[in-house]
Amino acid sequence: MIKYLLALCVLFLGNVSAIPTPKPKNIILLIGDGMGLTQVTAGLYANNKRLNLERFPVTGLMKTHSASHLITDSAAGATAFSCGCKTYNGAIGMTRAKKPCLTILEQAKKNGLATGLVATSSITHATPASFIAHVDSRAEMEAIALFFLETELDFMVGGGLKYFNDRKTDQRNLYKELIQKGYQVSNFQEKPLKKFTPDPASPFAWFSASGEPDSVQAGRNYLPLSAKMATEHLSKRAENGFFLMLEGSQIDWACHAKDGPRAVAEMLDFDQAIGEILKFAEADGQTLVIVTADHETGGMVLEQGEGFEVLDVEFNSGQHTAALVPVYAFGPGAEHFGGIIDNTDIYRKMAMLWGYLTEPVVGN
Ligand code: MG
Ligand code: ZN
Repeated sequence: MIKYLLALCVLFLGNVSAIPTPKPKNIILLIGDGMGLTQVTAGLYANNKRLNLERFPVTGLMKTHSASHLITDSAAGATAFSCGCKTYNGAIGMTRAKKPCLTILEQAKKNGLATGLVATSSITHATPASFIAHVDSRAEMEAIALFFLETELDFMVGGGLKYFNDRKTDQRNLYKELIQKGYQVSNFQEKPLKKFTPDPASPFAWFSASGEPDSVQAGRNYLPLSAKMATEHLSKRAENGFFLMLEGSQIDWACHAKDGPRAVAEMLDFDQAIGEILKFAEADGQTLVIVTADHETGGMVLEQGEGFEVLDVEFNSGQHTAALVPVYAFGPGAEHFGGIIDNTDIYRKMAMLWGYLTEPVVGN
């Protein structure tokens, strides 16, 4: 109890001394993987010229280069967001010197906040992994899964079940270990997500696929639902706030595949999840919501199709590009996210607002 009161005092003093704006109780970081301005534009025109993204009062642009490349991958991009350091492509929560870097999620957890990760990829994929794991290479999926046993999330939804329960590198069954730790755990084979009302008394994990969720798999549209469930569950799990990262993972994959209609569908799935998050944040009044992308994918171009809503989507490349990507912010502290910023600034600004930024993060 005394420890708890002390922690509260420290938070309170930190707030008064250093922070010019009201401090957000909760931070929700929403990442549209591969979501450049054209992906946003395509979603907007395909959706009768409206998106939930229009509801954000602050917009900015962001530089996305990594330490090793002009064009980042999702691992270096997400590590910039999670740790505030520029690193090499492929790094998961590691600096360019291959040292583990403390993530905003780990800092939140240490400070007694609830934490959550949601993705439409496997939960061990580069973007979510970079918030919880520390490995040299994004390919080490089974090694990444081990970190979910070390840092206990309060809410996790994503694919990648086989990296937990069908492991080649050791004989452990991490799925069972999560149950032993007191998790409510289930998966797509047992029950769809919509059948669950997670009990706030214990952490919740649901696996959406054995490996990567298929874009057309039944029940794959779980992102808006998990956004709603995550905010409800996390806000009950810790009275002093939460950190949630939710990713629209497959905008990127659709653009790699040069599949315009699928890219639009993924964009709109992500925007619906954004709508659910905004509903929570508007009612709550103490939640900072940030939406951005790790990079643009595909060099997407919109050409004149038939009318406004029948889009002619073309791609210049099947790869990521170096274009600046948009940033959107809502809630206490949102004003810090305007202008042209760097991807490492996402971490810096979140950490500054929460009083976690003790020393400058080195390296651009
Ligand atoms: Mg991703
Ligand atoms: Zn990609």
